[in-house]
Amino acid sequence: MSSDASDTSPRSLLTAAGDALLDRKEQLTLDELAGLAALPDSAIPSLAALAHEVRLAWCGPEVEVEGILSAKTGGCPEDCHFCSQSSKFETQVLATPFLDTDEVLRAAEETARLGASEFCIVLAVRGPDERTMQRILELVPLVQDRVGINVAVSAGILDDDQASRFAAAGVHRYNHNLETAASFFPEIVTTHTWEERFDTCRRVRAHGMELCCGVLLGMGETDAQRIELIGQLRDVEPAEIPINFLNPRPGTPLSDRPVVGPLEAIRWIALFRLGLPSVILRYAGGREVTLRELQAMGMTSGINALIVGNYLTTLGRTPDEDLQMLDDLRMPIGVLSKVL
Ligand code: SF4
Repeated sequence: MSSDASDTSPRSLLTAAGDALLDRKEQLTLDELAGLAALPDSAIPSLAALAHEVRLAWCGPEVEVEGILSAKTGGCPEDCHFCSQSSKFETQVLATPFLDTDEVLRAAEETARLGASEFCIVLAVRGPDERTMQRILELVPLVQDRVGINVAVSAGILDDDQASRFAAAGVHRYNHNLETAASFFPEIVTTHTWEERFDTCRRVRAHGMELCCGVLLGMGETDAQRIELIGQLRDVEPAEIPINFLNPRPGTPLSDRPVVGPLEAIRWIALFRLGLPSVILRYAGGREVTLRELQAMGMTSGINALIVGNYLTTLGRTPDEDLQMLDDLRMPIGVLSKVL
């Protein structure tokens, strides 16, 4: 089906997007995405349906399941205004030391039992000091050998030497979030720059690890800044993008922000899929408070991966509820990698 370029009706914009992404397998321009972002609420179900078709065509039907473990919680010296693990704010999160090896192995085994293919060890740090490096370098091969699961790590800003040592130790994916657009970042973080994050993302790929690069929506960024972020994500070429929605944490500077509405969240899940058709788009933190009854709709709006169990500082739905949802949707659990 072709469309008339001068026609800006929702139907015409959606048809043009479908022609590009499904028939010609071409990416949309950021201007085209901005046009779709402005569609009326009544067009969101059609936008979501297109995003689901695009996900199936570009990534297949499988859903990837991951477990995350906060191996060192709280006490972070950075001031990310959304984060209850920052030591700059009076929050209810208590700083804990690095978990011991048995606790990490137990969590990895539990994650594997749920059918997950990825286990991510997360640390609340600006970047790893040498002691932390050593702990991670000893844990990664141990978890792989004993549990037989891919190990991902999230330990903040890396230099070249650290990235190369993680890659050599077998880290499969490294998580480092851009969180938000470069133009909005200074309003959210003052202790490090967006460029430092961007550089770490580039380094992860340069050393041969898959990049997991998440976003956090609902911090006060504009629609245009969300589109800007999609463009910046294209530049770092992540294998995976966890979509987080702000769940305002007491004591943080963003504690009073309203949560993103459910239908608006669906709009942006769909737009991220349409803007980044080949990535693993993962449901992450905040989905329970944001999507409420629309959890399953997100799965048919472009999402193809889940974090199951608890998030870093908030409780998620039970793994059983999520696995039941996948079963109800007849979505098989599988291992994914970026197909571009
Ligand atoms: S988001 Fe990460 S770097 Fe920022 S305060 Fe939280 S743990 Fe620290």
